[in-house]
Amino acid sequence: MNNRTFAMIKPDAVRNGYMGKILDRIIEADFKILGAKLIRMTKAQAEGFYAIHRERPFFQELTTFMSSGKAMVLALEKENAVSAWRDTIGATNPAEAVDGTIRKDFATSLGENAVHGADSDENAAIEIGFFFTNSELISNE
Ligand code: GDP
Repeated sequence: MNNRTFAMIKPDAVRNGYMGKILDRIIEADFKILGAKLIRMTKAQAEGFYAIHRERPFFQELTTFMSSGKAMVLALEKENAVSAWRDTIGATNPAEAVDGTIRKDFATSLGENAVHGADSDENAAIEIGFFFTNSELISNE
C-alpha cells in the first residue's frame, strides 16, 4: 500500500488568499507534508500535467486556468493518503461537495475548484515525480 498522495492548491485559491487556510486543513487532517513548493505552470506544463483530459471539451479552459497564476504543489503522507485526501477535498463540483470539505469552503466553481488530489496510488507517484525530485521529499521530522 502506498501512503503518499499528490495535492495542489490551485491558482484560484492562492489568488483568493486561501493558501494558509488550506495548509491548516492539511495539517489538521494529520497529513505529513513531505514536500511543498510554490510554482507557476506554463501552459505547456499544465497540458502535460492534465494530458489525460486532452480530449475533453474543457481542456483549454482548464490548462489556461491552471497556468494563470501561482499554485502550491504538495507531496503528502498519511495512511491511505489518496482516499483520505479525496475525502478531505470533497467532490469535483463544489456545489456537490459535502460540508467541511475544502472545495465546499474554498472553491469558486466546477473548473476553479481550489485544490487537486491524485485519484490513484499510481497517479500520485507520477504526479509527485512531475514536480519533485526524491531529495525534495523529506520524511523525517
Ligand atoms: P478531480 O479529480 O476531482 O480534480 O476531477 P477530474 O479529474 O474529473 O477533472 C480535473 C479538473 O478539471 C477538475 O478538478 C476541474 O478543475 C476541471 N474540470 C472538470 N470538469 C470541468 C468542466 O466541466 N469545466 C471546466 N472548465 N473544468 C472542469
